Amino acid sequence: MTVAVPVSSAVSDTVLDKAARGERLNAAEIEALYHLPLPKVAAVANALRLERRDPDVVTFLIDRNINYTNICNVGCNFCAFYRTKRQSDSYTLDYAQISAKIRELEQVGGTRILLQGGVNPELPLEYYTGLLRHIKAHHPSIRIDAFSPEEVLFFEKTFGLSLDDLLDTLVEAGLDGLPGAGGEILEDEVRAKAAPARIKSHDWFRIIDAAQRKGLYTISTMVIGFGESYAQRANHLLKIREQQDRANAQYSGNGFSGFAMWSLQTENTRLHGKAPGATAHEYLQQLAVARLALDNIPNIQASWPAQGFKVAQAALYYGANDLGSTMLEENVVSAAGNHDRHAVTVRELVRIAVDAGFTPAIRNSRFEIIEWPDAATMLQRSPENPEAGRGVGVH
Ligand code: SF4
Repeated sequence: MTVAVPVSSAVSDTVLDKAARGERLNAAEIEALYHLPLPKVAAVANALRLERRDPDVVTFLIDRNINYTNICNVGCNFCAFYRTKRQSDSYTLDYAQISAKIRELEQVGGTRILLQGGVNPELPLEYYTGLLRHIKAHHPSIRIDAFSPEEVLFFEKTFGLSLDDLLDTLVEAGLDGLPGAGGEILEDEVRAKAAPARIKSHDWFRIIDAAQRKGLYTISTMVIGFGESYAQRANHLLKIREQQDRANAQYSGNGFSGFAMWSLQTENTRLHGKAPGATAHEYLQQLAVARLALDNIPNIQASWPAQGFKVAQAALYYGANDLGSTMLEENVVSAAGNHDRHAVTVRELVRIAVDAGFTPAIRNSRFEIIEWPDAATMLQRSPENPEAGRGVGVH
């Protein structure tokens, strides 16, 4: 349970001063942050963010999330997406359908797809390798970050390959990186309640570690709102920080490119009414704590899909330097009108960055800036675009 207990101002000042000096916090100190007044923690988080990344710039990525199948045999209690193969709305996309989605992304200047699905026991290894080859052949400029550690674990068990051989096979076919999905809270006690059949924390790190060793892109993630304790949240952050240290030392710095955190959404899931979820206050608090705890991960994302644009904008003052991406879940994007929806999202991300006082920049999945959008033009109101400048102070 996340129960607030008072912390003396001496403790408060000691921990915050230490974090502000850029010194590493231990588990007890990270846990103590949750009991401090949020404005004080946020002030230090914002100072560290301004120090570690360009203080004037907020970045985001133009990408698309493609869920190639919704058939899954893991059955996580928090998942509203998966179906069994007998359900009438279960699906698996063929290569042509996936190509059509990528073409829409290319039309708005997108550079990356997140390709993830359920754990579908019907698909052979050739479906995945063939798909990667197809995408590289038909969409050579698109980077493919595909298959969460959960899917990779399934491939490993099913296709009779060692993890090293499996990753080599996928890389040879075109894989560029692994999304860090499936992290949630990397404490098995929390995971066992939320999803008993879900990948265990040990396997999640084992697969991420192998991917980093092979030079693949990865990102660290966190989901709050399962009813996890502050100690469990702190441990999650410490494990990520430890993995980042390992990758920095042993894999030529090929650690996590960033940290993304969002709050649990329980609508239409078996956890509805059973897990508390997280308020905007808790979300911002967790983001600020992450900025203080993860001294070796410079890029921290605000999550607009889970928290909405306004909270994401506030998050830029609680330690976040990035607005994530235009990623839209397939189940909330209608097939018709995807192109418009993407364009609106790009403009909206530009708008919230500008409105919050930052210069927006489009990045790639390694957080390198690849384009400076013309914010003034994009946000200019016109008869065709009447909402564009609403609430915006363009500078
Ligand atoms: S493994 Fe993924 S798709 Fe399958 S139930 Fe869990 S969250 Fe849903």
